[in-house]
Amino acid sequence: MSEPLSRQSGKNNPPSVLIVGAGPAGMVLAYQLASHGVPVRVLERHADFRREFRGELIHASVLAPLERIGVLPILRQRGLASDDIERRMFVGETRRVQVPGGNVRGSIISQEGFLELLHELCSAFPDYRLDFGTTALEVCKDGDKVTGVAVRKSGSESRIHSDIVVVCSGRNSVLRKSAGLTAEQFHVPADTLWLRFDFSDIPQALPRSVDVHMWGDGIVVVLFQTSRSRLQLAFSAPGDLGTLRKDLPALRARLLPLIPAALRPHLEAKLDAATESQMFKVAVDRLPTWHAPGILFIGDAAHTMSPSGGIGLNVAMIDAFAAADAFLAAIDAGLEIGEEVFAAIQKQREPDIVAVQAGQLRAHAMAGKRRVGLHMMFSILPVFLPLINKKVAAAARRQAPVAIRYAAAPQGEHAG
Ligand SMILES: Cc1cc2nc3c(=O)[nH]c(=O)nc-3n(C[C@H](O)[C@H](O)[C@H](O)COP(=O)(O)OP(=O)(O)OC[C@H]3O[C@@H](n4cnc5c(N)ncnc54)[C@H](O)[C@@H]3O)c2cc1C
Repeated sequence: MSEPLSRQSGKNNPPSVLIVGAGPAGMVLAYQLASHGVPVRVLERHADFRREFRGELIHASVLAPLERIGVLPILRQRGLASDDIERRMFVGETRRVQVPGGNVRGSIISQEGFLELLHELCSAFPDYRLDFGTTALEVCKDGDKVTGVAVRKSGSESRIHSDIVVVCSGRNSVLRKSAGLTAEQFHVPADTLWLRFDFSDIPQALPRSVDVHMWGDGIVVVLFQTSRSRLQLAFSAPGDLGTLRKDLPALRARLLPLIPAALRPHLEAKLDAATESQMFKVAVDRLPTWHAPGILFIGDAAHTMSPSGGIGLNVAMIDAFAAADAFLAAIDAGLEIGEEVFAAIQKQREPDIVAVQAGQLRAHAMAGKRRVGLHMMFSILPVFLPLINKKVAAAARRQAPVAIRYAAAPQGEHAG
């Protein structure tokens, strides 16, 4: 079965855009385009937005555009955003340290609530459609040009066509290979076990910061609160965490001593066989070219980010804002959205991504040092910190700011 979704390019007749993946990149792009009259169809393999565990700290640079497109105020009204959250770094349990670039402050936003809100806002526009439970399998081509994707839904396969395909399906996207693109891989020596605990009986015990504890030899524990009064914990360490996850006594023996004293008794009581958990293979990779005729990759699908620095979610959304701006500017100018536009988006975003990924690889190497080495390094670092911070600030100034030309406007009950 073939489902057509095709238009001519031009201001009054914008091209149809098929977005694969309803994560942060996909949904921000969908909202920006749909609210400017572009026909958008989104495919998401999961049945809803309650999917894998991910980071939820939104940095100040992304809060500004989210405020401008009217999303942040609604999230605050719904109690889904906690503002002024600081990301704090420690060596061991208690030694607080400063890292280059300064400590990050931002807001924790329920990712599930955020994606649901964007879907709700998009649904006010007639040319928007989201298909849950629909997995993209490979690209469809006419000659060299990608013209859509083959999908599986409820066990049956079909093809969905569009003028442009934007792949936002995250790490290990299957569409990379079928579009003829291969990523450059960078070695990261640790995996991460995510655990989530219900703290609704003791919400006052939830931390008001994102705390990163580096224990040396690649062992890192990150703790922060997430939506519905839950505590999220990321445990990274070398070795087979998948096996450890299945061995509760061994997991308790290894993990609980690494939990700060204020939280330890609560986790002693709550860590059991019913604790929600998930394994993540940490990866850092990047496509040398983010596009091919008819198709563009953004977010983790173009450049997979590690959890280090808590920034992948943020850069994925900046990609989406940049792509939406470039598409809308081309439509306004009556230009075709082709490889020139895709290449300009990559050119704008790539320097930031290269710099962030290099920082993540340095951070992984740093976390791999012995604890005594970390203590020594953070004792010496303050001497060089002003100079390093000056360089970091200069590099940040050279990069494209997150200025969006096209701001979406909520409709209906959310208008004004
Ligand atoms: C363990 C771990 C912890 C992290 N912690 C943080 C953090 O604290 N802060 C931070 O900013 N970043 C963090 N990151 C990175 C962050 O999760 C990603 O960079 C970010 O989610 C990328 O957003 P995205 O929209 O590109 O992709 P994703 O968030 O991965 O979204 C992709 C979407 O596409 C869907 N999909 C996938 N394949 C298909 C398909 N074939 N067909 C249809 N749909 C499909 C998926 O179900 C998903 O909904 C972490 C990453 C990992 C691995």
